[in-house]
Amino acid sequence: MKTITHWIDGTASTRAPERTGDVFNPATGEVQAKVAFATPAVVDEAVESAWHAAQSWRHSSIAKRTKILFAFRQLVDKHAAEIAKLLTLEHGKVAGDAMGEVQRGLEVIEFACGIADLAKGEFSENVSTEVDTFSIRQPLGVVAGITPFNFPAMVPMWMYPIAIACGNTFVLKPSERDPSAANFCAQLFADAGLPPGVFNVVHGDKVAVDRLLEHPKVAAISFVGSTPIAQYIYETGTKHGKRVQALGGAKNHMIVLPDADMELAADAAVSAGYGSAGERCMAISMLVGVGAAADKLVPLLQQRIAKLKVGDGLDPASEMGPLVTKAHLDKVRGYVDAGVREGATLVADGRGLHVPGRAAGFFLGPSLFDHVEPGMSIYKDEIFGPVLSITRVATYDEAIAMVNKNPYANGVAIFTNDGGAARKFQHEVEVGMVGINVPIPVPMAYYSFGGWKASLFGDLHVYGRDGVHFYTRTKAITSRWPDPRHRGVDLGFPQNR
Ligand code: NAD
Repeated sequence: MKTITHWIDGTASTRAPERTGDVFNPATGEVQAKVAFATPAVVDEAVESAWHAAQSWRHSSIAKRTKILFAFRQLVDKHAAEIAKLLTLEHGKVAGDAMGEVQRGLEVIEFACGIADLAKGEFSENVSTEVDTFSIRQPLGVVAGITPFNFPAMVPMWMYPIAIACGNTFVLKPSERDPSAANFCAQLFADAGLPPGVFNVVHGDKVAVDRLLEHPKVAAISFVGSTPIAQYIYETGTKHGKRVQALGGAKNHMIVLPDADMELAADAAVSAGYGSAGERCMAISMLVGVGAAADKLVPLLQQRIAKLKVGDGLDPASEMGPLVTKAHLDKVRGYVDAGVREGATLVADGRGLHVPGRAAGFFLGPSLFDHVEPGMSIYKDEIFGPVLSITRVATYDEAIAMVNKNPYANGVAIFTNDGGAARKFQHEVEVGMVGINVPIPVPMAYYSFGGWKASLFGDLHVYGRDGVHFYTRTKAITSRWPDPRHRGVDLGFPQNR
């Protein structure tokens, strides 16, 4: 059976792994590969490689870095279908969704191609007589990225193209559940002309992550994953003196006002709730029906759910694939059981789903609960599966109070035809990414992505300008060139002159 190994110093590692993990095909339930789990020594090897590469990469011209990024962009575009197939085989998402993931990652690479403009400093002439001050942006050195299973190509691309464009070198620790896309992209980056050691991949679990968190030569950590781990990464990384941005989990609400276009809202809720089997940090998991909205929505949702085709992601007819692992399937099913136990109304039950020829796959059909209350576990917890819940409130004020009370604050949406209500909402809601008649408001690459509260630990969001700022530090230089008039000692603070 194939073993996916680390990518260090521009090549796949040939070292026999001490520990490995199973990589499943979620549609069949079969183990299709093994993945090497890095020991601290392997992580040290990758960091050393990155550190040595950083000594020259930071001096490389913007022209050279940009040329390599453009070449990488071309190669990712050319091989998009192959990357997408790897995503479907290991994550389970359907082919169209997998292509969409690669496309969104490509947009960040394209953004990074503009680094010449993005990393510019500032200049002020004559801050004092014949004295100039300017600032420059310099790379940090070795940066590490630790990423989740749900976007195995795109989330790493939120990080490494920008970090590398800024002159840093990178060590990626992708999810051990779908590790192949990282190696595939590392090979493409090498083919694009990236020098060895600038981009490295170590696979594994907490052992690898902990070594990255404490390694003295790692200057910064970008993390995306669940909230408890994000908090741990932030606290441990900053304790070791690193710059850290750690994006966590979510519980995204979609408020539907009674004046909304209900057909549009139902389409959006089904797409955003069940797309990628709900394994998206921006998935809608709570529908908040205001006034009569919920009564109108329920039958519209039922009609749409009944038509959804669930199956192997490689089958072009499938609209929704399996969950990533058996353990995750069991956890999500457990939430459907809990919702019934806690008294919510189960309108659509995905537990009995049978996918012909795929009996051992990790499938759960789309499930819908109505009359969900904030005290229930299906309201409080991030389920991360195809389970959509409806809660009912009487007024807009109750709806926004509910959203603002939630500890998570990644994404939120409002559906309405009332511009004034939408504007009030965008101003008042305490969430990092807001959609108005848009259910999954993921910002484009030239804005930045990030939530508030328990959905982000750190100060800067990922990609966009925040990404450039995260991966650089500024230096302010004040200069005066010799002029005989400057002679003479002055012990005072400079005055206006
Ligand atoms: P996870 O937190 O389990 O794992 C993320 C990464 O951390 C993986 O690389 C994993 O190997 C590592 N890890 C896991 N346990 C660890 C531990 N104890 N110590 C150190 N490292 C550890 O997340 P996941 O299940 O892979 O992904 C799903 C989660 O990611 C969801 O909560 C989802 O909301 C979140 N997510 C958030 C965003 C965002 O932008 N906010 C985007 C995508 C996913």
